[in-house]
Amino acid sequence: MIVKELLKYVFMTENYLTLPSLGGHRDPAVRENMEEAKELLKYVFMTENYLTLPVSGTGTAGMETAMFNVVEPGDKVLVCVNGYFGERMCDMAQRCGGELIRLDTEWGHAVDPARVEQALKADKVKVVFVVHAATSTGVLQPLVEISRLAHEHGALMMVDTVTSLGGCPVKVDEWELDVVHSATQKCVGCPPGMAPITFSPRAEKVLGARKTKVQSFYLDMSIVQQYWGQERFYHHTAPISMCYALREALRLLYEEGLEARWERHALNSRALMAGLQAMGLQAFAQEGYRLAQLNAVRVPEGIVDANVRGRLLDEYSIEIGSGFGVLNGQIWRIGLMGYNSTARTVYVFLSALEAVLQAEGFALSPGEAVAAAREVYG
Ligand SMILES: *Cc1c(COP(=O)(O)O)cnc(C)c1O
Repeated sequence: MIVKELLKYVFMTENYLTLPSLGGHRDPAVRENMEEAKELLKYVFMTENYLTLPVSGTGTAGMETAMFNVVEPGDKVLVCVNGYFGERMCDMAQRCGGELIRLDTEWGHAVDPARVEQALKADKVKVVFVVHAATSTGVLQPLVEISRLAHEHGALMMVDTVTSLGGCPVKVDEWELDVVHSATQKCVGCPPGMAPITFSPRAEKVLGARKTKVQSFYLDMSIVQQYWGQERFYHHTAPISMCYALREALRLLYEEGLEARWERHALNSRALMAGLQAMGLQAFAQEGYRLAQLNAVRVPEGIVDANVRGRLLDEYSIEIGSGFGVLNGQIWRIGLMGYNSTARTVYVFLSALEAVLQAEGFALSPGEAVAAAREVYG
């Protein structure tokens, strides 16, 4: 675009990210940015889905967009619950009039496809919902088998990838996922404010066959897609600055490459966990189903959760997550997401935690955690 080239000239710069002022939401420069964001989202979701865009709002808006557009009053919805966000999705399914079938799994464990199959045999379900990366527990849910079962029983596969997207593989087309939402502020590495979402052609057909209007005007994909499509039909004003932030975060992700990014997350998690284990801490999530971007460990015996988190924050400016719901006070959730998944973060955190735990009276051998992490990096 000529304006960008001229701006580089007046700024005397070669900077790639040189843009005119953001402009109104119907400005051609803004449109171009929106188009680029959509294309880059297809890359991260690994999909050819036409209906791929970021809705305005955080990840929760993504959850509601998925549920509210697919479910009509009386539809049966199978929600797999093994953490906090599954609970939330049960609430949403009921708010839009769905008939909820709830499949509970102990927190910290992955959902067993055999139990999903039983539920699908027992009821004519319209959609199966699972959380890919359970942020409250650190569990990574395998999706391929559940997706296959959903389709075998004529149901759509709906997945929350808020914490997985950009941090580990999310293969929408290969795994035949139908409705997949995410958020910008976790492993995509952008401020909070938009919710990427994608619908397969199979899901689009279901949306097209609705008999009732979507209960939310703001999140109604039949109108939202006309705003984001060629029509540019006014629906609401997109948060323009967020669209720019998202496009930039996605550009960085694209430049790094998806696979390199997954590997980076995996490596830093291995180093972190080696360090934590050297300190004598235990992983919380079921073995073989652990996330790299969110590392959950048990609070050791005799240690007060809040004291440790408080000291980390006050003395080292490091924030880690507590357990919530049934896990309150029992686990720590250590995020290594997006730009924060680095060796530096791992080393600084391990050193700080070691000092804090020692001050709290926990017996450990100073230096062992960092040494164990260093061994992983080789
Ligand atoms: C964070 C999160 C959400 C909600 O996203 P917000 O941006 O806080 O609205 C939904 N699902 C999962 C799995 C999450 O981790």
